[in-house]
Amino acid sequence: MAQAETKHVVIIGGGFGGLQCARALARAPVQVTVVDRENHHLFQPLLYQVATAGLAPGSIAVPVRSVVGAHANTRVLMGEVTEVDLEARTLCVAGGDQLAYDYLVVAAGARTNYFGNDAWARHAYGLKSLRDAIRIRERVLLAFETAERERDPARRRELLTFVVIGGGPTGVEMAGAISELGRRTLARDFHTLSPADVRVVLVEMGERLLAPFDPELSYCALEQLEALDVEVRLGQRVTDVNPRGARIEDEEVHASVVVWASGVKAASLAERLGVTLDRQGRIRVDTGCAVLGRSDVFAIGDIACHIPEGETQALPGLAPVAIQQGRHVAKQIARELRRKPRKPFRYVDKGIMATIGRNRAVAQTSLPALGKLHLSGLLAWLSWLFIHILYLIGFRNRFIVLFNWVWSYLTYGRGARLITAYVAGERAEPEVGPGPLDITAAFAADPPDDDAAQEPAADGAGASPRVRAP
Ligand SMILES: Cc1cc2nc3c(=O)[nH]c(=O)nc-3n(C[C@H](O)[C@H](O)[C@H](O)COP(=O)(O)OP(=O)(O)OC[C@H]3O[C@@H](n4cnc5c(N)ncnc54)[C@H](O)[C@@H]3O)c2cc1C
Repeated sequence: MAQAETKHVVIIGGGFGGLQCARALARAPVQVTVVDRENHHLFQPLLYQVATAGLAPGSIAVPVRSVVGAHANTRVLMGEVTEVDLEARTLCVAGGDQLAYDYLVVAAGARTNYFGNDAWARHAYGLKSLRDAIRIRERVLLAFETAERERDPARRRELLTFVVIGGGPTGVEMAGAISELGRRTLARDFHTLSPADVRVVLVEMGERLLAPFDPELSYCALEQLEALDVEVRLGQRVTDVNPRGARIEDEEVHASVVVWASGVKAASLAERLGVTLDRQGRIRVDTGCAVLGRSDVFAIGDIACHIPEGETQALPGLAPVAIQQGRHVAKQIARELRRKPRKPFRYVDKGIMATIGRNRAVAQTSLPALGKLHLSGLLAWLSWLFIHILYLIGFRNRFIVLFNWVWSYLTYGRGARLITAYVAGERAEPEVGPGPLDITAAFAADPPDDDAAQEPAADGAGASPRVRAP
């Protein structure tokens, strides 16, 4: 009987917000189900280090199961939530599962926003997932390998040109890291290439970098990037992205890699809930993080638009916001079960920081105890290292990341310089083996007939999955 009365909390998303919520509910008298389409929690602030071969993917991600799997009241499901029926209090997970909930916590995060230029997504790499980071890393490394074989100096320079679009923290971090990777690490190992051949262009439409920071720190970041020979274009607009590179205003810049670090928008699930959204597609929530008009549904982190009481601006899309909201929602659910009223959410803003490269970073705190403190250069960089190690989940990951950083600092080396993608046109023999993993077909109770699946249709569709398409 007691079992039947236990409330079921479903959390969509095992990111910063969702995972904190699940952890904070570990001892609450509820059943918890965490549903994520990935099997891992990802520490996105260090994605740019995977993209620039500084860290291996496994150092910044942990299986969701290993974080909350030991909680007796928590179950983890890997799958994409496709539909939510708010009236019936049920949701569907791709592949057919249906879950009923008493409380729903939507923590599905954000996705790359191309601001209506969706065709650019084919040539400009977003940075939101491990797959994105690995694709950028492979493309950058391949550009160097190709340049080493290139005899035409003009073409070689194009191959070693990298364009980063967006002068926010991600763009600044990517531009600095690509420049260091190219000029310091790779150019040393490629004997026909000179560091002077490497060109990194950072384009920002606004008049300064790092808009959320104080202007003084934006200027420090600009100086630090220029010291790394990054070409910073402020107040300039990208008008096209194509297979040869990007057009900046009227100038074509031929580049081997274009990185899109210009913005994010709420995960697509927000659009399918039928609730009130803001102009950026985020779910409008009340001061306690509950979805407007739905006291049993919470939205937290990047997918939520939370405007604190008495303010006009929504809270920013930052990990500490998601983490604090996750904990807050767990507390409110536990309070309600004890028949206590809910409390509003208050964000404790500890400050923001961005790293630009070795010994280079900017940081500003806003803690009452420290007042408004601005840091730049080595001190900011050391604070950045410390905070990121602190927030990284898992002792093993902390140790590996710290070790990698010390090693890279001493040697300028980058350990994760592997290209594992199948490079079309490079092999005499096509790669054999199963094609991309289709989880539905792979583990279906009644798998499709293999021979039929390999029979190419007249239009070429359904060709053998054993020969990987180039
Ligand atoms: C490159 C980069 C650098 C960043 N740097 C910083 C930084 O330095 N400092 C900082 O504070 N913040 C930084 N951020 C922002 C920070 O990562 C986000 O604010 C934070 O991740 C938001 O947490 P969340 O829980 O809302 O979403 P996320 O952590 O993104 O988690 C969302 C989860 O939901 C899952 N999901 C999505 N849709 C579905 C679905 N339909 N069904 C099932 N699962 C789903 C996803 O797989 C994901 O695991 C950075 C972000 C990026 C991309």
